[in-house]
Amino acid sequence: MSPTHRAVRLDGVTKQYGDGAQAVVALSEVSLVVPGGEYVSIIGPSGSGKSTVLNVIAGLDVPTAGRVELCGHDLASLSDDARSDLRLRAVGFVFQAFNLFPTFTVEENVAWPLEFLGVRAAEARRRAGATLERVGVHGPARRRRPAELSGGEQQRVAIARALVTQPSVLLADEPTGNLDTRTGELILDLLRDLNRERGLTVVLVTHSAFAASYGKRTLEFRDGRVVRDVRVPLEERPVELAARR
Ligand code: ADP
Repeated sequence: MSPTHRAVRLDGVTKQYGDGAQAVVALSEVSLVVPGGEYVSIIGPSGSGKSTVLNVIAGLDVPTAGRVELCGHDLASLSDDARSDLRLRAVGFVFQAFNLFPTFTVEENVAWPLEFLGVRAAEARRRAGATLERVGVHGPARRRRPAELSGGEQQRVAIARALVTQPSVLLADEPTGNLDTRTGELILDLLRDLNRERGLTVVLVTHSAFAASYGKRTLEFRDGRVVRDVRVPLEERPVELAARR
């Protein structure tokens, strides 16, 4: 997909949970555009709507009002099947808790989305292997179960599973939240490289200012609204600092 393609567009998106006195407004008239190839960090306090906005972008949550466009498709205009299909092909999702299947091997975890899309098992295994190689999971580790891997390795596997269908957008919800600083940095380096080398659009939710600084742009949420939308100056990105060392 062309890097100039508009990956995500939200127009006046409101998401309310519950009714009446119990109502919680998780998102309040949020409008934003993420061009293809961008790397956006979403920051904000707990409860400010960060996870909800990722779920709405992925079509996992339906907004109460407003319009969500993903890779040029108005999500509301798609049937449930078409929406699931678009989600599987266009979006990769990475979570803080990795969310791998514990009884599957690493390779089976990564091959699964392809098999779900109807790719034959042998071909799915082949593509899973190539994607695992790309994220730095080699050889025997592929036949292990997730519990036999370190946290950093498990997150690499989760990223491989998110990328195996070659999506154009990667949504990541606190992907380094369960990792030590050094391991977290390696995962952020990997996402940065995928963004730079493949034009993968990255939207990453984080509490950490360091993690957020990998983005080219930071969106700050508060009370379900975007209160700040800033481009991160090149000299403040760890990437550029590292390159100069
Ligand atoms: P963040 O990711 O910034 O911590 P969330 O998007 O998870 O914030 O939540 C925003 C608000 O919506 C919070 O007040 C949260 O309690 C509420 N919320 C999120 N999901 C649900 C849900 N399924 N049911 C009810 N309230 C929810």
